[in-house]
Amino acid sequence: MIQMKNTGKRIDLIANRKPQSQRVLYELRDRLKRNQFILNDTNPDIVISIGGDGMLLSAFHKYENQLDKVRFIGVHTGHLGFYTDYRDFELDKLVTNLQLDTGARVSYPVLNVKVFLENGEVKIFRALNEASIRRSDRTMVADVVINGVHFERFRGDGLTVSTPTGSTAYNKSLGGAVLHPTIEALQLTEIASLNNRVYRTLGSSIIVPKKDKIELIPTRNDYHTISVDNSVYSFRNIERIEYQIDHHKIHFVASPSHTSFWNRVKDAFIGEVDE
Ligand code: NAP
Ligand code: MN
Repeated sequence: MIQMKNTGKRIDLIANRKPQSQRVLYELRDRLKRNQFILNDTNPDIVISIGGDGMLLSAFHKYENQLDKVRFIGVHTGHLGFYTDYRDFELDKLVTNLQLDTGARVSYPVLNVKVFLENGEVKIFRALNEASIRRSDRTMVADVVINGVHFERFRGDGLTVSTPTGSTAYNKSLGGAVLHPTIEALQLTEIASLNNRVYRTLGSSIIVPKKDKIELIPTRNDYHTISVDNSVYSFRNIERIEYQIDHHKIHFVASPSHTSFWNRVKDAFIGEVDE
């Protein structure tokens, strides 16, 4: 028999409003209390998100300024997700793994976005999936600079820069490649670029290594919409935007039942293959 000790670990539980997630929230809260875990929603050691990948994005943003101190766990109340290691019927296994936990973690890159406004203000964001930019009404026109090289003048609906774990989200819908999350790189993907005799962009998405910086310089002083994961912002008079891999990574509790990335991709997009 395994000896269970008082862990003293501080845990925050975050759930979406779906009845099933709320049921899991109450059940898990109860089990954690009975097992001497401490519930703490300001400076936890472990954050458990209950819902889907979208809920894990919200949990990430709640703790985006404490990424080095926190480890995440995702519980999915639907199918298996990309940021979720447990299904809602696996709470026994989750609590047991928490009791046996020795602090091991799995870490993935995070995107850092700096929006420089013409009035000198700088808005800084972190994204777990991606940041996308569009011009509010008309065609977006922006210069794309990669590591100081003026690469192209983009015309079209917009551009996204995604992390490796975000590559299976919006990036994939735009025709971007799926990147294994141990590859520390960012992916720049076009949203409906104009390509004809006059206007020319690369057309395919590009993947830049950790040391490279992507800059976008919108050429129109108009409102642009910047989406960072599940949040939307609107800015006027953007001077430039810088995208780089953040100094901090997101850490997940390394679960003994951690599902391999390619299994997740297969589960989400392919399903079972008929031979
Ligand atoms: P949502 O509109 O409720 O959900 C978007 C879908 O994307 C959900 O099915 C979500 O899974 C899934 N998803 C989230 N992160 C993922 C990832 N890393 N890999 C694969 N699938 C992922 O919005 P949300 O739940 O708040 O998520 C925001 C994200 O939606 C954005 O970061 C963006 O990537 C994505 N999005 C996609 C499109 C598109 O594909 N055309 C357009 C806008 C936004 P769950 O059901 O498990 O939550
Ligand atoms: Mn969602």
